Amino acid sequence: LHRQCCRSGIAAAAVTSKTVSAAQRRGLQDVAITRTGKPIIRVAGGRSSLGGHTATVFGATGFLGRYLVNKLVPFREEMAKRHLKVCGDLGRVVFMEFDLRNTDSIEESVRHSEIVYNLIGRDYPTKNFDLEDVHVEGTERIAEAVAKYDVDRFVQVSSHSASKNSPSEFYRSKARGEEVARSIFPETTIVRPAPMFGHEDRLLHTLAGVTNLITSNHMRERFWPVHVIDVASALETMLQDDNTASETYELYGPKNYSMGEIADIVDKEIIKHRRHVNIPKRILKPVANLLNKALWWPTMSADQVEREFVDQTIDRKAKTFKDLQIEPAELQNLTYYYLQGYRSAAFYDLPPQTEREKREEKKYLHVID
Ligand code: NDP
Repeated sequence: LHRQCCRSGIAAAAVTSKTVSAAQRRGLQDVAITRTGKPIIRVAGGRSSLGGHTATVFGATGFLGRYLVNKLVPFREEMAKRHLKVCGDLGRVVFMEFDLRNTDSIEESVRHSEIVYNLIGRDYPTKNFDLEDVHVEGTERIAEAVAKYDVDRFVQVSSHSASKNSPSEFYRSKARGEEVARSIFPETTIVRPAPMFGHEDRLLHTLAGVTNLITSNHMRERFWPVHVIDVASALETMLQDDNTASETYELYGPKNYSMGEIADIVDKEIIKHRRHVNIPKRILKPVANLLNKALWWPTMSADQVEREFVDQTIDRKAKTFKDLQIEPAELQNLTYYYLQGYRSAAFYDLPPQTEREKREEKKYLHVID
């Protein structure tokens, strides 16, 4: 959140004040007794605060992870965790090297905490881990460690549209991950975020990037994009509110869009036209599969092509932002903050201020446009 504040003060400040007022409305107490009888003295929080909760955040080096107030951060790659150091004062954020197949390292990461978040997820299989390894076996190991050390709370971040009958392996493995977590630790809170947007997202930035976008479904897949900061606020609320234990939350934005509609908004915002190439699924899927196997950097996978044909489904039985008293932000109100860097320097955001600027005859474009 700190980083977000620095980069887009207005958006983050608005969200922060919303979270505080939601917490006030819920009437949080200064002292809380956890499920295992441990008293927690809640302090105001902040970079230097001592006391309060100790949380372990698996997957903190990812996109969502950086926005979650974090304490214990298991990591794999030395460089990937650097930006999280500034989330807390010296000693407030503790880094632990871990491996998803090394039970000891997982246990060491969880045993001092009263809440564990599992944000680990992968969109595509890698050489060492397929989707089953990451979403099912990884979850199993973490949930077992949580149960073994009787950690108070476990929050499992799954995905929207997670279903055992989905044509996508990603959604199937996420659904199995939920099942495994609940079977080992029945009080698991399950969180299913919609596709998230924000500074480091793979949604707006993919659409705004210079490379041609290759799709199979003419960008017709529909979903309710959600602001990453809202999801992080919801995860933070779960830490303070034990009524969220054993519940399932579907976190999605207020408006349904097709990918094509979002691409139009992005084009309008960056004042450029980004090209998109459609290749039939029967050709793209095997090519994506080959690329995913042959190249060692993330490109696309066969399952990602398959997911283009799956619209987001909403489980009406699950709880939502409303139950956490959070008002989710609407994508179109924030695209300016996230995409202004893609605009050409040929435009002025403010009317020309000097004689030279007037002479250059750049096009004046009001920031609110
Ligand atoms: P990221 O891809 O940005 O981050 C994933 C995290 O998982 C990273 O910290 C990564 O660690 C870790 N990870 C992946 N594979 C392994 C592994 N084999 N062993 C150990 N750690 C691993 O994800 P997001 O932050 O975007 O998403 C967070 C969660 O939300 C994920 O579970 C994702 O599936 C889910 N989700 C995300 C959506 C989105 O739009 N972004 C939509 C729906 C669900 P490292 O840095 O070391 O690679």
